Amino acid sequence: MANETVLVIEDNFDNLELVRFVLSQAGFAVLSATDGRSGLSVAREKLPDMVLLDLSIPEMDGWQVAAQLKGDPATAHICVVALTGHTLPGDRQRAFDSGCDGYISKPLDLPNFVGEIQALLQQSQARRS
Ligand code: MN
Repeated sequence: MANETVLVIEDNFDNLELVRFVLSQAGFAVLSATDGRSGLSVAREKLPDMVLLDLSIPEMDGWQVAAQLKGDPATAHICVVALTGHTLPGDRQRAFDSGCDGYISKPLDLPNFVGEIQALLQQSQARRS
């Protein structure tokens, strides 16, 4: 699965650097944005294989970003995965309702993180083929 591109939209610098490091080490090309509006424009321009989306981000929240990506035929195929500390009952469902294909809770479970990302990408590619 090397060389697939993941766009990480995350406003917490430490989390962003951690995710960027782990995914780069695993062979992914990593793009990043720190707010929803710029993240959406990077997604539209670069068409990554996956958007890893913090839900609590400035400018436009992650639920809105997911809905925009899934509502546009040009970006609807991108695998959108919520990455969030929102773990209250209902948050997960709300992420799926807004179009997310997967949900990973923070703090990250590092030993399993790359495997989860790869599994979600494979599921998304299987749906498309
Ligand atoms: Mn955040």
